[in-house]
Amino acid sequence: LYKPIAWIITIGNELLVGRIVDTNAAWLASRLTFLGASVRRIVTVGDTVDDIVAVLRDALASSDIVVTTGGLGPTDDDITMEAVAAALNLPLVLNREALEHVSRFYSTKPAELTRERLKMALLPLGAKPIPNPVGAAPGAHVSVGRSELFVLPGVPREMKPMFDSYVADKLKPILPELCVREKSVVVKGVAEADLAPLLRRASRECVSCYVKSHPKGHEAESPLVDVRVLASAPTCEEADAMAQRVIGRLMELVGGGGGGGASSSVR
Ligand code: ATP
Repeated sequence: LYKPIAWIITIGNELLVGRIVDTNAAWLASRLTFLGASVRRIVTVGDTVDDIVAVLRDALASSDIVVTTGGLGPTDDDITMEAVAAALNLPLVLNREALEHVSRFYSTKPAELTRERLKMALLPLGAKPIPNPVGAAPGAHVSVGRSELFVLPGVPREMKPMFDSYVADKLKPILPELCVREKSVVVKGVAEADLAPLLRRASRECVSCYVKSHPKGHEAESPLVDVRVLASAPTCEEADAMAQRVIGRLMELVGGGGGGGASSSVR
């Protein structure tokens, strides 16, 4: 199955010192996966132009979709747009549409369009602004060779609606017509190591599925393993059926000598 390759780049010194947890990466990874992309890298870098430029160039050279978050605000350490422009060898210019967005945002507030606020309307030449329904700073969308690059803010309640209302829509033409579904089963009473060969056999029911076990309980005393099956198919019915086949086979195997008092429950 063809899936476009995606990289997620989260930007911010706060992430590197552990002050904030990178929930943006997890949220984007889940969204992109269920839209039918194959997320290959999640990279976090600080607010340093050279580091952002280097990772952007890597990402653009090896993926179809690149999504960044963070560093779009008005302060001097918000340098993502500058780095994007540098990575693409494009000048950073005042974008009329972005300026209208920023002006509109402040028109209802007693604030002047200072240098810091105008900075948020600077985009790489040719980039399209991504409307921000919540905050001041618009994002940017640039098509670069085979890649679509989306630059989004770090604040989750700004980033998420921008992804859902703009990015997901722009990705439609490059995403395969696939439905991605996940099914899970919790297996009790079988240690993960004993479950592994059974999982291997059950996985043969669907070669294109991604099957992964996650131990939850205490391995020796009360093993509890959460098994997740991710299936992709042209229709959701097929994807559900493929995942269900793997789960069904696994339950048969566990029941038939998978280990004493094993029990399982499907979600
Ligand atoms: P704004 O334009 O609204 O100022 P920004 O793009 O400048 O946003 P940052 O300054 O990088 O965003 O981050 C602002 C806040 O957003 C952080 O203090 C943090 O609370 C949150 N944030 C940033 N990155 C992430 C992330 N990867 N995961 C979760 N939260 C994040």
